[in-house]
Amino acid sequence: RNFKRQFECRSDIERLNAPFLSIYESLIPTEEEKAKQKQLLTLLEKLVTKEWPEAQLYLYGSCANSFGVSKSDIDVCFAIENADLNKSDVLLKLADILQSDNLQNVQALTRARVPIVKLMDPVTGISCDICINNLLAVENTKLLRDYAQIDVRLQQLAFIVKHWAKSRGVNETYQGTLSSYAYVLMCIHFLQHCKPVILPCLQGMERTYAVTVDNVECAYFDQVEKLRDFGCRNRESIAQLVWAFFNYWAYCHDYTNDVISVRTGRIISKRSKDWTRRIRNDRHLICIEDPFETSHDLGRVVDKYSIKVLREEFKRAAEIMQYDSDPCVTLFEPY
Ligand code: ATP
Ligand code: MG
Repeated sequence: RNFKRQFECRSDIERLNAPFLSIYESLIPTEEEKAKQKQLLTLLEKLVTKEWPEAQLYLYGSCANSFGVSKSDIDVCFAIENADLNKSDVLLKLADILQSDNLQNVQALTRARVPIVKLMDPVTGISCDICINNLLAVENTKLLRDYAQIDVRLQQLAFIVKHWAKSRGVNETYQGTLSSYAYVLMCIHFLQHCKPVILPCLQGMERTYAVTVDNVECAYFDQVEKLRDFGCRNRESIAQLVWAFFNYWAYCHDYTNDVISVRTGRIISKRSKDWTRRIRNDRHLICIEDPFETSHDLGRVVDKYSIKVLREEFKRAAEIMQYDSDPCVTLFEPY
């Protein structure tokens, strides 16, 4: 049954398109919400440049990469060129400034893996995390946003997958499951591989954009408006893609040997990356190569317990997509 299931999807799958599309649409942030995010960014810029005139603020993460669902927090990167700057001092000072301007719940988390200041703006009701000089995140945000402009099915698939992951409790890096960023890379990789392909490999094309940040070269083809017809030979609809995505991660991915790599547009081997054994806490039980920081495995948070949870969830989702009478409800049932 397993073998057959890998290649044959339910005959009534097309009926699921409309309900999946309406879930997708209900998750898109409204213009009003976008405007409020801008308003908060403008306020933060005003406060920051008073103290650090040379600093710049960038939005990154889901509020800027096209994969943000409504009511998300915003992620802001504070960029300042100053080699001797002490991040903790800046964060503490920043927290002081923000607090005196009536922003709420201001906290400086100086010991976190990525040190940040957290806050809530009572005017817009939006929460925000500010990090310092995390410019690679700004670059990977642009890469994801560029991919999103090529084919709307990427955004549709990623919204459904993120919504599923949040509902099922498998979007918690501190519990050993995957970040939203990792799930979006999994979706991009999947669409680079379906037949006919829906997405190209931008880093494998002519470089129209190139910057070097933290000694990492970020270069790729970013004239994505020229690629709008790229995936048009593939007519698969969202329901089929959701089914095939879960089927791939439930039954087809080779967890023992393979690394998914959006950078190369291919599957590469764990051996070629020397990701075959556990080093410290990096176990490489599911391998997702970061497109720019290539030594970084986004699956490294996954441990021997959470890998079971994840794979069971992929199987559950694949089963539901195949046999359930109402997948659009069952898939997202709270765990
Ligand atoms: P959500 O809607 O869940 O907030 P998000 O895309 O904002 O989704 P976060 O986990 O908040 O996801 O991450 C914010 C951004 O930080 C990502 O878009 C990415 O640019 C960067 N990022 C997150 N985790 C990593 C990581 N492990 N390595 C590199 N960059 C990362
Ligand atoms: Mg975020």
